[in-house]
Amino acid sequence: MSVAAEFAKANEGYVKSFGEKASLALPPARKVAIITCMDARIDPAASLGLKEGDAHVIRNAGGRAQEALRSVIISQQLLGTREIVLFHHTDCGMLTFNDDGLRTKLKESVKADVRNAVTPAVDQLSFLPFSNLEQSIKEDVAYLKASPLLLEETKTKITGWVYDVYSGKVTQVA
Ligand SMILES: [Zn+2]
Repeated sequence: MSVAAEFAKANEGYVKSFGEKASLALPPARKVAIITCMDARIDPAASLGLKEGDAHVIRNAGGRAQEALRSVIISQQLLGTREIVLFHHTDCGMLTFNDDGLRTKLKESVKADVRNAVTPAVDQLSFLPFSNLEQSIKEDVAYLKASPLLLEETKTKITGWVYDVYSGKVTQVA
């Protein structure tokens, strides 16, 4: 059975107990956007006390602000969020590679007949890896605070945190 088929099976039980969630509003009730890594060990709802309807949770590799910006703008402009909480985490995969190495691996993985054609585009890609956890959080918070595209009234409510995958504890660093 594929994982997708397992999902469909599991969903049958979820639908039966869906209940009052059918009446949740579209805008997040707690007016907050969370940016965090896609890491499979992180459960933002459980670790931060979130319920359905509370928050936007924007996830990508590393929890990088630059990639999340599009979603944060939509969150602020169209759905009323007024605070941003950013998390990077210990043992993140983003600490394990650099752009040049991944570009080479990517080029080697594409079909030989298109390799030359995709090379210029691959060479311009940045995968936003980092080598220092606290520094990457501080950089991303600074990036958000400096962005002219984010609402000025929210700039004092942008914070950056470490999530420790070994204890589940969050610690503010920016
Ligand atoms: Zn990660």
